[in-house]
Amino acid sequence: MTFTELSSYLDRLESTSSRNELVKILSDLYSKGSPEEIQPLSYLIQGRLVPFFEPVEIGLGEKLVEAALAEAYGKPRDEVAKLYSRVGDLGLVAAELAGAGAGTDISLTEVHARLTEIAYAAGAGSVEKKRSNFAGLLKQADAASAKHLVRMALGRLRLGIGEPTVLDALSFAKRGDRKLRPVLEAAYNRTSDLGMIARTFWEGGEEAVAALKVTVGRPIRSQLAERLPNPEAVIKRLGLVAVQPKYDGIRVQIHKNGDDVRIFSRNLEDFTLMFAELTRAAGALKDETLILDGEAIAYSKESEEYLPFQLTASRRRQHGIEQAAQDLPLIAFVFDILYRDGRDLTEMPYEQRLALVDEVIAGSTVLLPAPIIKTDSAEVLTKILLDNISRGLEGVVVKRPDSPYQAGARNFNWVKLKRHTSGQLNDTVDLVLLGYYFGKGKRAAFGAGALLAGVYDAEKDRFGTITKLGTGLSDAGWREIHERADKLQVDHKPARVDAILEPDVWLEPEVVVEVLADEITPSPRHTAGMVGDQPGYALRFPRIVSFRSADKRPEDATTVKEIAELFRQQRERKVPA
Ligand code: AMP
Repeated sequence: MTFTELSSYLDRLESTSSRNELVKILSDLYSKGSPEEIQPLSYLIQGRLVPFFEPVEIGLGEKLVEAALAEAYGKPRDEVAKLYSRVGDLGLVAAELAGAGAGTDISLTEVHARLTEIAYAAGAGSVEKKRSNFAGLLKQADAASAKHLVRMALGRLRLGIGEPTVLDALSFAKRGDRKLRPVLEAAYNRTSDLGMIARTFWEGGEEAVAALKVTVGRPIRSQLAERLPNPEAVIKRLGLVAVQPKYDGIRVQIHKNGDDVRIFSRNLEDFTLMFAELTRAAGALKDETLILDGEAIAYSKESEEYLPFQLTASRRRQHGIEQAAQDLPLIAFVFDILYRDGRDLTEMPYEQRLALVDEVIAGSTVLLPAPIIKTDSAEVLTKILLDNISRGLEGVVVKRPDSPYQAGARNFNWVKLKRHTSGQLNDTVDLVLLGYYFGKGKRAAFGAGALLAGVYDAEKDRFGTITKLGTGLSDAGWREIHERADKLQVDHKPARVDAILEPDVWLEPEVVVEVLADEITPSPRHTAGMVGDQPGYALRFPRIVSFRSADKRPEDATTVKEIAELFRQQRERKVPA
């Protein structure tokens, strides 16, 4: 397949507003790929060269791309810069400069290889090398290809293709329907690598995909927690439970392979360097191979307190990692073990896994076991919940002692009970920003008045709107929204978004905010949970509590299913039985 062919598919993907079309175009594209092409193809359509968990970015800055454009098309730098300020998108600038020239037929695999070489160039002279190599690539590209190459290089190829859409497309490409999605999805939950799954599928079919195993070095999709309204409901539904503090930090999956330690966040980013003290602590453990799951949290030596999420996350923005490690040391509460010395432990009952955690990290002062208390009494559970809240923790996570680790699943094997127990909606929800309305007065200066926010429908891989958001943000918060929104603006409704309301500006779903609201109400204007002529759901009096993009991707936002469940629970509380 040539890169020109790929580009024409990317154009079609970019212009569609329909998710079914997305799947169809992608599956057409996939069915044209050979086994060698399918892996790089899978990464390129997501604007990547490698799976998300590998920290390799093409990562050219705007200035470098401008210089490469000037070199490729023989234009003065300031002319390119002027064009950019007129058009506002360097991809379109590239297309304009490339003009109608045909371009040569470079293969997709060659483009992938050459972009990889650019990404890896390092050391003295590497900036010039990146520029001239990229310019060389542009010279050979036709207009559409140049546009997509530039967007890929800047990390701005946003086609809104979520993993479920890719998995559906793979299934369609091979057998014309969605039936293989569960096998593909299970493999994705174990390996987090779409490219490898696609290649395996092309080479060895369904059986080979089913045989893909958990591996050290490839993150496993995190098991997630359901919600229930109160301790009574928890005991009624689960019976005997293991209760653990809920730490408000950042989820970390720690992989150890001999001296090689890697740390992944819940949204599959590589945090190995950033969380250097955890990496060192894991490296010092005795076992050769391990996968541990836990929550990293910053600890203040002065106040002898665990710090809330926002402060833990601020570690990501600090430049001097070693200094940050001194000022705000991190520890991790380890609450699970998924792999040890060559053996996948995910099928083992939770209680036994936790006993292994104690054994594996014994003696470490940085990796600490998350304690559990077992109970089948709602009274005891209430006491533990209140006790944890009074100690400044978020609440508790309650787990079934006999449950396996179900990668990527959100079910009642784990249930979270949080603070805010007095309000009607006693828990926060995570929403994705989908658009904004121009503001008036002071807010207009920050570029956004109200925000349109939505939740995720995991089955359909779509986002439905649930509320407008206007309060809860500081001026700095609005500014941050504005800055991010600038990069996410799209000129039509993204294909995965369902909406009746039309904001002034659509955003590619990416920014996740944590929101507290008073109540969920039925609404004919919002599409979250809307089926046929049944209304959707809306939030009353929503206010933003924090930004969660540091640890959550849009697909990690609260789901329509959770909202429906919260609505049901809320109704039950209102109408006493
Ligand atoms: P939420 O982000 O509100 O859906 O809550 C689930 C998150 O709580 C997990 O992804 C973890 O990051 C975090 N967490 C904190 N403490 C625990 C614990 N003891 N067990 C499981 N998850 C925990």
